[in-house]
Amino acid sequence: MTYSEETPLPSLPSVASLLSATHGKWRDALIDGGIPAPKLDGERHSCPRCGGWNRFYALPDVDQHGRVHCDRCFNAATVVGVDGITSLQWVMGADFGSACISLSNRYDLPGFPANLRVPIAITKTLQEYAAALRAEDPPSTDIAQISLDFQAAATEEKLRECSRCLNLQEPSLQRLEVGWSQSHEAFTFPMEDGWGRVSGLRLLSLKRGETWSLGGAATEGLFVPIGLVAPTSRLYIAEGPVAAAACLSLGLPCIGSSGRLQCETLLQYKLMTLCPMECVFMTDQTGMGIGGGRELADSIANCSRSIRLVVPPKPYSTISEWLTSSSTRADVEEQVEACTVYSRRESGSSAS
Ligand SMILES: [Zn+2]
Repeated sequence: MTYSEETPLPSLPSVASLLSATHGKWRDALIDGGIPAPKLDGERHSCPRCGGWNRFYALPDVDQHGRVHCDRCFNAATVVGVDGITSLQWVMGADFGSACISLSNRYDLPGFPANLRVPIAITKTLQEYAAALRAEDPPSTDIAQISLDFQAAATEEKLRECSRCLNLQEPSLQRLEVGWSQSHEAFTFPMEDGWGRVSGLRLLSLKRGETWSLGGAATEGLFVPIGLVAPTSRLYIAEGPVAAAACLSLGLPCIGSSGRLQCETLLQYKLMTLCPMECVFMTDQTGMGIGGGRELADSIANCSRSIRLVVPPKPYSTISEWLTSSSTRADVEEQVEACTVYSRRESGSSAS
């Protein structure tokens, strides 16, 4: 987490102008980022990120420079240069660009698309979510190790088999960290929670045509490819790892959801760090269907400027069938452009 004063973020204000605009006003920015106001009084408190008791405090110059400290997860040993921006990155779990976008939105700095908003209200939900995660801690380390073991077991041959059977490019499967479980005779895909930890595994048996999940209570999650960088202009959100890999195979930036509505919060959190201008939901008639897609779209309505819902064109019945047929990226984009922008339903109106 380092940067220089001349960080060449395309079309963004300079770091120097961000720091000038925020000097003396960091308290509010950090509160919006997710640190509860009472924790910024300079006394020791539980940490808003790792939850540890009595290890977090704000430095005396928190208003001027936004500096905070956690004995365990945010200090000189864990980050190069503690300042307001790195503090914000830390508490939001965001990359440098996303933290700057959030600041720029807050202080209305020129040079940003006016409609690109990092939703502030979401951080409240996230604190609750983080608390729930900590209570469950830590099955995730085990499942992460299991996922790594499965990845190691996915030989080149296995990868080729998966790629051939599903008509997907090998690199897109690798970006989703595909693995192989001999005991289940199934391919495996790790799911992550909003904090980037492995929270479960999706298994796929090509022989039996079945999918199922491992991961105890935490079987909801996101399939996030390696190398997805923020901000993305248009982000595709597909149901499950196969549809996500099909998008990636066409060169479309994509994350997969585990298809459940419980994914909402995870998705909101992920979108906050990816800052997409537009989200495109790819939804099948099967699975969560259009109704489920709409509900999920509603839940992230504040996370990007526009949202589109795309269903597979005739004669295809599923997104992966459509994408892995002769479709090209241009075909898909044309189809997306033809879809009207989905608008949030009025609250109180009857669900259709
Ligand atoms: Zn901490």
